Amino acid sequence: MAEIRVQNVHKFYDRVHAVRDVSLTVADREFLVLLGPSGCGKTTLLRCIAGLERVDAGSIRIGDRDVTELPPRRRRIAMVFQSYAVFPHMTVFENIAFGLRMQKRPAAEVRRRVQEAAELLHIENLLERHPAAASGGQRQRIAVARAIAVGPEVLLMDEPLSNLDALLRLEMRAELKRLLSELKTTTVYVTHDQVEALSMGDRIAVMRDGVIVQDDRPLAIYDRPVDRFVGGFIGNPPMNFLDAEVERTDGRLRVRLPGGTVELAAPADGGLGADAPPGRLILGVRAENLELARQSRPDAVEGEVLVVEPLGSHNLLTVAVGEERIKAVTRADETATPGEHVWMVLPPEKLWWLDRETGRALAAEPPAAPA
Ligand code: ATP
Repeated sequence: MAEIRVQNVHKFYDRVHAVRDVSLTVADREFLVLLGPSGCGKTTLLRCIAGLERVDAGSIRIGDRDVTELPPRRRRIAMVFQSYAVFPHMTVFENIAFGLRMQKRPAAEVRRRVQEAAELLHIENLLERHPAAASGGQRQRIAVARAIAVGPEVLLMDEPLSNLDALLRLEMRAELKRLLSELKTTTVYVTHDQVEALSMGDRIAVMRDGVIVQDDRPLAIYDRPVDRFVGGFIGNPPMNFLDAEVERTDGRLRVRLPGGTVELAAPADGGLGADAPPGRLILGVRAENLELARQSRPDAVEGEVLVVEPLGSHNLLTVAVGEERIKAVTRADETATPGEHVWMVLPPEKLWWLDRETGRALAAEPPAAPA
């Protein structure tokens, strides 16, 4: 069992409070992504788990051991850095063997483990070469192979794909996901790339200003962001937000929006639209949940198409509603023309309501317990 339990951890750099009272549990074999904008403290938190930084308060447990005061080499972790950090003067074999040699494992075991790790990463044919003769993607594989060869209880990865070009990143993303699901090693993976986070993690912890603001399954975070920051950070395009004045009449909602007033049925399943209290709110809606209409209808907000971006599999529209701009996704064969007058249909069961003052979702749930 290698569960990670971070409890009430604080980390300061002089006066910068980089990690603020963070508590986080990563279940045994779980793949947790720490996601957040630059400077939010995710690398610092990862380095605290690794033992590369001392925490100023709080505790860290790995499995049944309190590792708060243990040096990195005694934590049974392995780390993969953004910079790969492969040793140029050693062959690929010796690079992968590095941790095993440090642990003074017998030569036969070193050979076997290096071979196994190399096979998992599909780099067996590189073992006798030097890293200089390997591509960027291959070097990243060498770094990952070196980390997993020691059979760590916990794998910590800090933006491991961000030095790769876009195509390679895509390929390595899927490959790492496969690898990690085969290995079943408890993993914490730091990234600022929300697509990576959504596509790879069992769970995502979103950080902002040293605090974990939401911790849940990827699609739960996507559909039900805890606040405006998370809804704007996760998803491409980000969630649309419009100021709304809500009135309730006979189970229906009258919603005044920048582009006009819409009448919405309360969803049959008692979804979020039904729960919106009257008053000044923010309406959140994902671009793909808006439907394009060519005629006025009560449940649609009027707008003007500004930009049409054909993206092959779909079109991305920028639509002006009142003074605001929203994004809408339409099927590839359902296109529009800039300047065209359109109506964007709001599906009541897909609307997400936030408090105008705090920016917090009305239905924000407490963080989910780990799977
Ligand atoms: P990035 O994605 O840019 O690496 P991050 O979310 O990983 O960002 P951290 O690197 O953890 O953020 O930094 C958190 C805060 O702590 C930032 O304000 C940063 O400037 C500060 N910080 C990080 N390392 C140090 C250090 N060694 N000395 C002083 N301040 C630091």
